[in-house]
Amino acid sequence: MSRTASRPHVVIVGAGFAGFQAARTLSRLTRGRADITLLNPTDYFLYLPLLPQVAAGVLEPRRVTVSLAGALRHVRLVLGEADGIDLTRRAVRYADPEGQDGELSYDRLVLAVGSVNKLLPVPGVAEHAHGFRGLPEALYLRDHVTRQIELAAAADDPGACRARCTFVVAGAGYTGVEVAAHGALFTRSLVRRQPLRAGIEPRWVLLDIAPRVLPELDRRLSGTADRVLRRRGVEVRTGTSVKEATRDGVLLSDGDLLPTRTLLWCVGVRPDPLVAGIGSPMERGRLLVDPYLNVPGHPEVFACGDAAAVPDLTETGQYTAMTAQHAWRQGKAAGRNVAASLDLGNRRPYRHHDLGFTVDLGGVSGAANPLGVPLSGPLAGAVTRGYHLAAMPGNRVRVAADWLLDAVLPRQGVQLGLVRSWSVPLDTASPETARVAGAPERAEGAAEKTEE
Ligand SMILES: Cc1cc2nc3c(=O)[nH]c(=O)nc-3n(C[C@H](O)[C@H](O)[C@H](O)COP(=O)(O)OP(=O)(O)OC[C@H]3O[C@@H](n4cnc5c(N)ncnc54)[C@H](O)[C@@H]3O)c2cc1C
Repeated sequence: MSRTASRPHVVIVGAGFAGFQAARTLSRLTRGRADITLLNPTDYFLYLPLLPQVAAGVLEPRRVTVSLAGALRHVRLVLGEADGIDLTRRAVRYADPEGQDGELSYDRLVLAVGSVNKLLPVPGVAEHAHGFRGLPEALYLRDHVTRQIELAAAADDPGACRARCTFVVAGAGYTGVEVAAHGALFTRSLVRRQPLRAGIEPRWVLLDIAPRVLPELDRRLSGTADRVLRRRGVEVRTGTSVKEATRDGVLLSDGDLLPTRTLLWCVGVRPDPLVAGIGSPMERGRLLVDPYLNVPGHPEVFACGDAAAVPDLTETGQYTAMTAQHAWRQGKAAGRNVAASLDLGNRRPYRHHDLGFTVDLGGVSGAANPLGVPLSGPLAGAVTRGYHLAAMPGNRVRVAADWLLDAVLPRQGVQLGLVRSWSVPLDTASPETARVAGAPERAEGAAEKTEE
C-alpha cells in the first residue's frame, strides 16, 4: 500500500484484539480516504484464548494465527516494535525485526499494545519460571512437558522421576486454569505410550493466593472449573503462593517444597510499559482515556484494549476488565471514532454489557455463563468451542478440523525443539523500552504501581 500526502495517515500500534479490529473497522469506514498503517512485531493476529490448546498438542500453532496481510487487505503492515512516541512531532519510533530503526509520522494514532507478564519480586522466579503469552512460550511448553515425561520414563531414580512429572502452575486465572486443565490431559496421553515407574503419575499443582480459582469471575463458573480440575487429578491449592523458585523445585508460602522442573507463571498481566511513557494520566499502569477512547488533551491519540483504562459506563467509577471481549469491541469503537475525527460518521462512547465468559477445560469439559446463564459439562464445552469459532477472524475450518482429529486420533507426543528455554524469558518487557520525548517523569512511577 503506497501512502499519499493528501490523505490523513492513521497509525495503529499493536495488532492484537483491539488493534486488529480498529484497523478492520477503520478500513471499512474510510474506504481509501485515509492511509492506515498497522505496526506489529509479527505478521499475524494471535487468538490468545486458544493458546493452551497449542501447548497441549490439540491445535497446531498456525491454527491460532490469522495473517494480517490476508485479513486486512487495505492496511499497510509494518513489522516492528514501537520503542518511543513523540507526541509533539506526532511520530512513532520503532525497531524492525532485523534491528533497523524506523519512524512513522501520523495524523491519528491508536495505541493497542496490550499487556505483558506481571513479575512479582519472588526470588528465583525470573530465572526459573516461564510465562505464557505467545506462540514461542506455547511451543516451548509443549516440548518441555513432552521431554519431562520422556526423561521421567527413562529415569532410574524414583525421586527424579517424580520431580520431572510434577508441573506447577502459579496463578489460577483463566490462563492458569486452562493450562493446568489441558496439561493434565496432555500428560495423561503421553504416559499412555511411555509408562512411568509403578506408582508414579503426572502431578499438576495449581496455586493461587486467592481463596478460589478464577477469582475475577463469577462464583458458579469458578465452582464448575474447580470441580473439573479436581476430578481430573489437578491439585488445587488456593491461599498459597510461591516463596522461592530454584532449578530443582518450588518453595510454597505454606512451607511445602515441591521438587519440580516446571514452574509456569500465570499470575496475571500488566499493561505494556510503552504506554507508561506517554506522560498522560495512568490508572494502575493503563493509559487513561475518556469514554470515546481519546487520550485527554490529545484528540488525535486513541488507546484501547488491555493497555487502556476505559471508563466502564455500565458500572460507575470502574474501568473495563482486561479481556479479549472488551479489547475486541473497544477496537471497533476506536476505529469508528477515529473515522469520526476525520469527518466520516459520528463518534460514540464505548459502552458494553458483559456477555458472559467461557473457559475451555479440555476434552468435552467447559465452564460458561453466556448472558448470565451458568453452564457446565459437555454443553459448556460445546458453547465454549462454538464461541471461539465464531469469534476467530479466520482459520475456523482448520481449527475445527484439528478438534475433530484430536477427538478420534491419539495426540502426537514429539518434541520439535524449535524454541529453546532462553528465547522465552519471563520478563519480556522492561519499563526502559518506553522512551517518549518530553515525558520522562511518569514511566517509572506508573510501572511501580502495577507491580504492587
Ligand atoms: C493464554 C491467554 C489466554 C487468554 N484467554 C482469554 C479468554 O479466554 N477470554 C478473554 O476474554 N481473554 C483472554 N485472555 C486475555 C486476552 O487475550 C487479552 O485481554 C486481549 O488479548 C487484549 O487485547 P489487546 O489487543 O489489548 O492486546 P493483545 O491481544 O495482547 O495484542 C497486543 C498486540 O500489540 C503488539 N505489541 C506489543 N507491544 C508492541 C510494541 N511496542 N510495538 C508494536 N506492537 C506491539 C503485540 O505483539 C500484540 O500483537 C487470554 C490471555 C492469554 C495470554
